[in-house]
Amino acid sequence: MKILFYDTKVYDKETFNLALPDFPEITVDYLKTDISPKTAALAKGYDAICAFVSSDLGKETLDVLHDCSVRLLLMRCAGFNNIDLETAKKYGMTILRVPGYSPEAVAEHAMALALAVNRHLHKAYIKVRENNFSLAGLMGYNFHQKTAGIIGTGKIGAAMARICHGFGMKVLAYDVYKNPALDFVTYVELDELLASSDLISLHCPLMDSTYHLINKDTIAKMKDGVILINTSRGGLIKTDDLILGIRAHKFFGVGLDVYEEETPNVFEDRSDEILEHSTTARLLSFPNVIITSHQGFFTEEALKAIACTTLSNARDFEAGTIPEYNLVK
Ligand code: NAD
Repeated sequence: MKILFYDTKVYDKETFNLALPDFPEITVDYLKTDISPKTAALAKGYDAICAFVSSDLGKETLDVLHDCSVRLLLMRCAGFNNIDLETAKKYGMTILRVPGYSPEAVAEHAMALALAVNRHLHKAYIKVRENNFSLAGLMGYNFHQKTAGIIGTGKIGAAMARICHGFGMKVLAYDVYKNPALDFVTYVELDELLASSDLISLHCPLMDSTYHLINKDTIAKMKDGVILINTSRGGLIKTDDLILGIRAHKFFGVGLDVYEEETPNVFEDRSDEILEHSTTARLLSFPNVIITSHQGFFTEEALKAIACTTLSNARDFEAGTIPEYNLVK
């Protein structure tokens, strides 16, 4: 089995190289460039390609991969909204992914963002480095005995609910399905969660039904002084409405690991550029907003799990025992 990796970062190469000795039947080559209709032809002679969240696996790319006789698309991530599934199906390509590689990695990052905006760690860090030891502007509040509202209680939302419970918070949740494992959680309707929560954390997937779930109407239903955290997908929040809410002093703080304009930025160093016409630049101008660049998944444990599952997926495919749970249909 020969696999061509696209969009390979240094850390991908390191973790996959560590896992590869357990898979002697697999050989890989790494490309820094991402896959696109122009770069897909490089996959000629490979059985599979391995791609990531923002790779372009639209129709044109798949046409080229089909011409190159590539049979398998290995996603080293959970998401697959960047693949033209209809075309992949037409060509009989198999798509395997890595669902739920480390829910705790993302949930812990969500809580890190919540704590950082609550206790103003981003400001405190800068102040103390400049020998400013005053506490002005740094007052936060206890999470203990406050209410957390978790929207989406799948793998990551459940991990976040457990963390909030561990902080001594009352935990409310809204989901289309109730997670029976979360016996300490009170499921309520969305409006009640919005009205009652001091900390709201988004953990549902981005779908037609959840697109712009957080908008001017839902923001108006939230408590004044709420903390809002999004580690799920940028499209869950209508950014222009969020900005209006921030300007109206609705939020104590906002922590975003994902945001609507992230596609050209994600994992890129654009520090020499001016982000013209950028809504993100507007968001970054607020003192109570912290943005990180889609790093929720980025822990050693998660990367090891991604490497191991991706290579096992390739091995299982070759052996004809496709792992149903990881198969994208
Ligand atoms: P999951 O499938 O285990 O859970 C999603 C939950 O959302 C399910 O319980 C589902 O019933 C619920 N849901 C569906 N529609 C809903 C709706 N309309 N309202 C409320 N809940 C709804 O997924 P997961 O593994 O917990 O991942 C959650 C999201 O986290 C993913 O969709 C992905 O976007 C995001 N994610 C982010 C990172 C990161 O690095 N920041 C990494 C991995 C995943």
